[in-house]
Amino acid sequence: MNLKLLSSPDLIKSAETAVENERKATGVVLDHLREIEHRRLFAELGYASLFEYCVKSLRYCNASAQLRIDAMRLSREVPEVLEKLDSGEVSLSSIATLQQFFRAEKKSGKSYAPSEKLDLVIQVEGKSREETQRKLAEISPASVIPLEHVRVLTPTQIEIKFVADEEMMKLIAEMKALMNEPSPTYAQILTFALQLALGEKKLTPQRRAQNQVRRETSQSTSPHEGTGQQKERPESRKNRPYIPIETLRATVRRSENRCAFVSPVNGQRCKSTQALQVEHIHPFAKNGTDDPENLTLLCPAHQRFQAIQEYGAEKMERHFSVFEYDTVFELRRP
Ligand SMILES: [Zn+2]
Repeated sequence: MNLKLLSSPDLIKSAETAVENERKATGVVLDHLREIEHRRLFAELGYASLFEYCVKSLRYCNASAQLRIDAMRLSREVPEVLEKLDSGEVSLSSIATLQQFFRAEKKSGKSYAPSEKLDLVIQVEGKSREETQRKLAEISPASVIPLEHVRVLTPTQIEIKFVADEEMMKLIAEMKALMNEPSPTYAQILTFALQLALGEKKLTPQRRAQNQVRRETSQSTSPHEGTGQQKERPESRKNRPYIPIETLRATVRRSENRCAFVSPVNGQRCKSTQALQVEHIHPFAKNGTDDPENLTLLCPAHQRFQAIQEYGAEKMERHFSVFEYDTVFELRRP
């Protein structure tokens, strides 16, 4: 279609039709994401999360992927969201903002019934993302995720506010452990990290070694495969020795400190380096041994995928509780 040939009213009409089609297409994308998540296809394809699949395979930018995943999650519980998105009554960003709000509320112990969620969806009809945030702030200011903000306080001091996610908090804790300060402020931790990154500071070999062992052990020990720090040993592990730390380390090294899952569909190896755990290839509960050749390193998505393959989805659903934050799972053994 050559737009230059259209009259102005026709051009406006054509733009409206294009946007309507775009909204409908978004609804179809959400439907697909829901089914892909339900079948855990992203894990089968070697991605550690639906988010990673959306970014790396579907080529969305991080923000676009997160918007769609959040909106899809809300549509699962409140299907009316899809009709409202189709008709343009509610925008994708408002739906995603609502979902982030419900997630934050849940974390602080307040849950909403689907009908209450629908009520709020109706209340943000026709609102922009900012208007939606303001509406939600009236209900619970702490649960409205603030945008990053930078404010000049004095000629030499600037206030920077942003929201740290779980992963960033873990990294901050690790960085803190490397510092000599007894209780550094966040500003000191960030300065230290930046100096390290820019080569203005170097860790002593001793600190580097300590950190390496700490990382290996914290990343490679399952709740039931720890180093003796757990208060209580699970039933299945009673009267059995823990897997030796050297074996755990060897498994981590063999997997090059990343998830060892390889997709049976396309041969893609998972790239995740987050929350890795040493797992049995042939399950411990089915008489799998602690021999090194029966051990592998997996990210949470692939621990879950493997467990479902082994025990079936129905049985495993009772043992998993999926946090709504993508990639974060609470994993308990059958
Ligand atoms: Zn993985």
